Amino acid sequence: MAPSITLESVTYRYAPGTAPALSDLSISLPGGTCCAILGPTGSGKSTLVQLLAGILAKHHPESVGEGSLTIGDHRYTPLPNDILFPDVGLTLQDPYVQISGIRETTRKEIELTLETLGRDLVNEGGNIERLMHQLGITHLAARKPTTLSGGETQRVALATILIANPDVLLLDEPATALDYGAQANLKLILQSLRGAATVLFTDTHIDLPLEVADYFIVLKAGSLQFGGNRKQFLEHLPDFADLLPVEAWGKVLSALKGDPQSPFVRRIVQAAGLL
Ligand code: ADP
Ligand code: MG
Repeated sequence: MAPSITLESVTYRYAPGTAPALSDLSISLPGGTCCAILGPTGSGKSTLVQLLAGILAKHHPESVGEGSLTIGDHRYTPLPNDILFPDVGLTLQDPYVQISGIRETTRKEIELTLETLGRDLVNEGGNIERLMHQLGITHLAARKPTTLSGGETQRVALATILIANPDVLLLDEPATALDYGAQANLKLILQSLRGAATVLFTDTHIDLPLEVADYFIVLKAGSLQFGGNRKQFLEHLPDFADLLPVEAWGKVLSALKGDPQSPFVRRIVQAAGLL
């Protein structure tokens, strides 16, 4: 079942005495939410998803975390020390880091996740094929994973996590290297996970978030600037002009306000799922 996620007064420093990368964050998400974590570079998006995945303490033993995290029935005080995979799956901002480099083909790279989890590969063949088809990477099955392009690598990295069926899925800038078609696939995947997993993804743009997210978080220098649903986010869009590329959307919305019957404006707004 998709678990709820609650952060209470979470502050995180990469080293003692340094400025916090996350500062007094309190966030509460019901299970099954699709949440977009937005903000400019350096605002703390990657730190937040890595904290939720439990990988920070291992990678930065000198770091200092305060506050508590609750995922479903598990309350972590102090913050998690152990990697929470496969309950929580994370794709990293740099997908190349996620490729093991020890497997000769993309298909075997995906199988590696299942082997690590002790799952039976014979029973999972259909699942691997379905997932590769959904992600548009079937044609890459026999390719060497380390020779793929950025967008291809991003989708293979996503497959290595999705095949584990995590209840919480964290995606760090999943759309960045994807072309338009691959972004459309990603959108479908996120929509298909609605309610089945609690999903948090980071983005510096708002196009994909406006299409798929039902909760929006805006970070600025590690602090929570905003947390709210789609309607509230749209109402506050002008407030984020210095943090996010909101200008185009502001124009669409003001055009809609000015002439809501304009077929052109209505088509754009409907295509973006704003109505
Ligand atoms: P974003 O993903 O929004 O670009 P990050 O979470 O990567 O932001 O970074 C948040 C803050 O933490 C920034 O000030 C960044 O310089 C700092 N930071 C990130 N990684 C490290 C690290 N390994 N060591 C020290 N500071 C870091
Ligand atoms: Mg980042």
